[in-house]
Amino acid sequence: MPEIPAAAVELMKFLAESATSAHAVEAAAGMLDRLGFDRRSERERWDGAPSKPFYVTRGLGSLVAVVPGASPPWESGFRIVGAHTDYPGFRLKPSPVRMKGSSAMLGVEVYGSPIIATWFDRDLTLAGTAWFGKPGEAPEPRLWRLEGPVCRISMPAMHLNRGVNDEGFTFNKEENLCPMLVLSGVTADSLARAIADACSERPDRLAGFAGHVVDCQPAAVGGLAGEMIFSGRIDNLAMTHAAVRSLAGLRNPATTAVACVFDNEEVGSSTFSGAASNFLDAVLERICSPAGREGLFRAIPRSVMVSADAAHAFNPCYEGRFDRENRPLLNGGPVIKVNSMQRYSTSAPTSAYFAECARAAGVQVQSYVSRNDMPCGSTIGPIISSRLGIAAVDAGNPTLSMHSVREAAGVEDHGMMISVLMKHMEGCIPV
Ligand SMILES: [Zn+2]
Repeated sequence: MPEIPAAAVELMKFLAESATSAHAVEAAAGMLDRLGFDRRSERERWDGAPSKPFYVTRGLGSLVAVVPGASPPWESGFRIVGAHTDYPGFRLKPSPVRMKGSSAMLGVEVYGSPIIATWFDRDLTLAGTAWFGKPGEAPEPRLWRLEGPVCRISMPAMHLNRGVNDEGFTFNKEENLCPMLVLSGVTADSLARAIADACSERPDRLAGFAGHVVDCQPAAVGGLAGEMIFSGRIDNLAMTHAAVRSLAGLRNPATTAVACVFDNEEVGSSTFSGAASNFLDAVLERICSPAGREGLFRAIPRSVMVSADAAHAFNPCYEGRFDRENRPLLNGGPVIKVNSMQRYSTSAPTSAYFAECARAAGVQVQSYVSRNDMPCGSTIGPIISSRLGIAAVDAGNPTLSMHSVREAAGVEDHGMMISVLMKHMEGCIPV
């Protein structure tokens, strides 16, 4: 089997660490900490233009990281890469433990648009955020993850669902989607105790928690020739990793480079830390503070953003769902995504700009456009581009089975995307 590219190995580790958007931001911040980035807080005073690389987080699932350029942004603009840290799946309801017969089941809410059927009969665990503290104190957030497969959502047996292969698998989202946690003898406190244990904390200090259902299976290299990565969460933790990793690899960029990764894209981005919030705007304005708001207004038209999100790879078993001339292949290189209805932010000039970054990196690009009789997804690209007035291009790596619990990507594409994003962030390609 050929050797796996180093970028793909790094990605697989990141996918395993990133059980939730908060875990993804913790892993990304760890990468930046090891490289000596300063950690800033939105609550503190920021004096002057930054002279050192830094990052700032908002909520637990969003992060903006900046590497200052040789010239200030009001002279040369920003080179931005944006991605999202969340993925579709299931969130625990408040008071999630409920008894059905003698079994303790979990009440869950659907988050975003997962392909729900793929979550049945999988080895699942729970992960999330918990807050600990005494009454009257601001509680401290902690991340948690339970070890091993602690629950499963069970399909009915073939014998109890005879039509399943011909009529399709149907289910009720409230009644049939409850992960089974314990067969008998559980109390509502058991889950709280397990979460406190996972945080090495006392259960009586637990002020609250939020939980996600998480697929346990780690990423694997797949295919007879080892050409693919099989994993959950590729959309869009792969591009979260690519955004932060390409920024982390920069040395003395000509312009100010920014990687921004946001929570809540799968549910529309309109949260206090999502792409529709003022998080990125506030960071850019504060960087421009030596030149005032005027500095920001001069920087914006000199800037360009790559909205990096998964692209649909050609699936040979569903040939008719793809435009014949624009069907990206795994390991064929990054994909420029186009939609005339502007569900993607790409325009002719920004498409040419991304292609030029790829040419400079020695990487081939592909293109994707949906068929007129197929719907088209969207990204954070149009949201940020329209609100801030920054020209943007939507691009991503080819991905199979997007929104399935187990997606697939090519082992070669990740390193290629990082090379292109680095060319973009170095700021040497004219805008
Ligand atoms: Zn996505």
